[in-house]
Amino acid sequence: MATYVYKFTEGNKDQKDLLGGKGANLAEMTNLGLPVPPGFTITTRACRHYLDHGTMPDGLDAEIEENLAALEREMGRELGQHDDPLLVSVRSGARFSMPGMMETVLNIGLNDESVQGLARQGGDERFAWDSYRRLVQMFGKTVQDIDGELFEEAIEQVKAEKGVTDDLDLDAGDFRALVDRFKAIVQQETGSPFPTDPREQMRQAVRAVFDSWNAPRAVLYRRQERIPTDLGTAVNVCSMVFGNLGMDSGTGVAFTRDPATGQQGVYGDYLQNAQGEDVVAGIRNTVPLTDLADIDARSYDELMGIMETLENHYRDLCDIEFTIERGKLWMLQTRVGKRTAAAAFRIADQLVDQGMITLDEAVQRVTGDQLAQLMFPRFDEKAAARDQAHRLGRGMNASPGAAVGKAVFDSYTAIKWSRSGEKVILCRRETNPDDLEGMIAAEGILTSRGGKTSHAAVVARGMGKTCVCGAEEIDIDTKNRRLVAPGGETVEEGDVISIDGTSGEVFLGEVPVVDSPVVRYFENEIDPASDEADDLVRAVHRLMHYVDAARRLYVRANADTPEDAARARRMGAQGIGLCRTEHMFLGDRRQLVERLILADTRDEQDEALEALLPLQRSDFNGILASMDGLPVTVRLLDPPLHEFLPDITELSVRVAVAEARGESHENDLRVLQAVHRLHEQNPMLGLRGVRLGLVVPGLFTMQVRAIAQAAADRIREGGRPRPEIMIPLVGTVQELEIIREEALRVLREVGEENGVELDFPVGTMIELPRAALTAGQIAETAEFFSFGTNDLTQTVWGFSRDDVEASFFSAYLEKGVFGVSPFESLDVDGVGRLVRIAAEEGRATRPDMKLGVCGEHGGDPASVHFFHEVGLDYVSCSPFRVPVARLEAGRAAA
Ligand code: ADP
Ligand code: MG
Ligand code: MG
Repeated sequence: MATYVYKFTEGNKDQKDLLGGKGANLAEMTNLGLPVPPGFTITTRACRHYLDHGTMPDGLDAEIEENLAALEREMGRELGQHDDPLLVSVRSGARFSMPGMMETVLNIGLNDESVQGLARQGGDERFAWDSYRRLVQMFGKTVQDIDGELFEEAIEQVKAEKGVTDDLDLDAGDFRALVDRFKAIVQQETGSPFPTDPREQMRQAVRAVFDSWNAPRAVLYRRQERIPTDLGTAVNVCSMVFGNLGMDSGTGVAFTRDPATGQQGVYGDYLQNAQGEDVVAGIRNTVPLTDLADIDARSYDELMGIMETLENHYRDLCDIEFTIERGKLWMLQTRVGKRTAAAAFRIADQLVDQGMITLDEAVQRVTGDQLAQLMFPRFDEKAAARDQAHRLGRGMNASPGAAVGKAVFDSYTAIKWSRSGEKVILCRRETNPDDLEGMIAAEGILTSRGGKTSHAAVVARGMGKTCVCGAEEIDIDTKNRRLVAPGGETVEEGDVISIDGTSGEVFLGEVPVVDSPVVRYFENEIDPASDEADDLVRAVHRLMHYVDAARRLYVRANADTPEDAARARRMGAQGIGLCRTEHMFLGDRRQLVERLILADTRDEQDEALEALLPLQRSDFNGILASMDGLPVTVRLLDPPLHEFLPDITELSVRVAVAEARGESHENDLRVLQAVHRLHEQNPMLGLRGVRLGLVVPGLFTMQVRAIAQAAADRIREGGRPRPEIMIPLVGTVQELEIIREEALRVLREVGEENGVELDFPVGTMIELPRAALTAGQIAETAEFFSFGTNDLTQTVWGFSRDDVEASFFSAYLEKGVFGVSPFESLDVDGVGRLVRIAAEEGRATRPDMKLGVCGEHGGDPASVHFFHEVGLDYVSCSPFRVPVARLEAGRAAA
């Protein structure tokens, strides 16, 4: 039994951990009887040993030699054999493909002698010397770490000397001269001659693949993507076939379905007389794969047959790399292919129709992130096509959505213009924390520098704002307040542009924005059975229907108004998990809050509360009506009171001006004093939540009374109100006991007044570490828990969200301290541990206790899986995320 090396005939597709993705699939294709050039795979186990010990494991050399010898016997020639050389490629292939890792060295086995043999065998001198120079070039660049530019420059020189511009105009003699130049470069850069011993070439290439596992870019990528560091990579040694032997040869890539749309058909590109990387490198124009039918009908038919075999076998979209050598088709790679969100849903649906997969499997083929992508408003596709002429360029799709506005080049202008009602797109080279206000004011953000973890990208995603970042081809000239597109078009400040955060495209002028059909379906505006529904809507409908039946988690929404509640219900929400009451204190009602805060006597205070009561009651009435029959968790007032008072600077100015003019300003002065009195260094940890309820007499009681009265009204109207009263920021059971007792008293009173029974649960948020750690005690009093994972994340990490996201989060993400912000996806190890403890200890005290989540994590796919696993009853998220949570809850349960 092999320890470190497996022949392609010995592995299979399920051995990705051991053989890497490429190796496992090469083996699978070999065993399916498909034409794969013979070869073998050096396992990740060997790599791990090498990385741990710095030396190749004992016995590896012998195993490689044994396999190579077997390969030579099978092929009837030896590696680098002078008269008729066997050549191989050395190809990396880890479990996950990683940028920054060494890729592939082709044509190993060539040297000054074997190149002659290859020329004679292939009947083509030019081909042989071209292959040789490619080897020296690739080997120098990837194995010996020589700057690739040096080789490119040498090619340019040879062309210039000859007076040609195209590689195709170089002949055998030119390539032969290039080999000499390349060898000189190697000698100069490494101090040693280019290795001419074929076996030595192979050994060095294998070692270089192993070493590339720890290349800085690969390390960083793994950290960011949370790929374990100790997997190691496999190495595939594969006998060479040649697509560059003339026009009856070539190389190509193909997909079994369109990875962009999911439609069935023939998709791919083909390039005649070319080797390997030429297709992707874009040196010459490829032709559509369908043209291969005319170029080489036999190979084309064979390829179509193989693609069908692969689809049936993998039961999914496959992508393929192939080469044709003088009319003979060879398969060089396959894998289950990447696809867009729309393609994922369509393909899953098609495969169910074709009987290839079950619905259970189908829901595992799509993700909540993909569904979310399909729900963003988008540019009208037809209009976008019409506007291609005005396409300015493209950057990275950092935060999805479609935004239109006037280009502005600094935050100050963004704020100023947006205050006067203009829609603006903030265009910056890159953003920094000083741009925060401008980013908030803008419809969307465009930067020319920085990747998906840049400041602009991180903050925009956090705000749910459209962002295209790193559009390097666009010159953003903030000094002159304009941007210049690669085509030369100039956009001056105030010109309208449109940015597409889903595709990364930037357009001149206004591209019309349309609602996504998927959202219109969720909003019941498109009937999935009607003609208006396209295959995408039908696919979404079918899969959603299935996950709703499969999931155990209920999904509620965070909604504060009757309109939001109604929308959430259309989106499939099964109640409200968080109804904030603070907005009910804004607008005209600020005055009443002001009166409450300024009251000198208990009577004045009561009056202010008295005035607020009917307003609150009608708020609750509307929400309870929208969610009739479903639970509505109402959170009593949470934020610090000074948030409802005027801005301190504005107020100070007003007082000073009035004073200077000798006008009366008594009230402003009183408010100003109150602002000073209530001012806190760190409001997040100050007088808020349950603490307010305990020190502001009558405040929480008034809120509970409003809920109770609204519910009583609803009952009289024949409704079925199900409010749940939730106390925020509890740290100890004592706080909750006091508030709950009062709440129960009020419920009883109002019930008696109205002759109805008001038996509504009173529970608490768990959003402080102490609450989580004493959940067993708190559960004595709390009838339910709702995890406030936003605040819990803040308090567990000691992060003030508004501050840290704008200042150093992008640096943390870039350095890989975390792969994703803990505010976006729950930190399972830290915050999640507290959730688990609180859930277990809460239920130990009160076994039938209802547990939910109302932080934004309730709509995050990975977090939903965690909440399912911990055994919560429901997640609650913004109405728009409800379908995402439904899908992920179903996937978690399926
Ligand atoms: P990547 O992981 O970047 O796709 P591959 O190992 O697949 O790298 O190699 C890239 C390309 O090199 C392949 O698509 C194929 O065209 C060419 N190639 C690799 N091995 C061989 C081979 N044995 N014979 C011919 N071409 C090869
Ligand atoms: Mg490949
Ligand atoms: Mg909170």
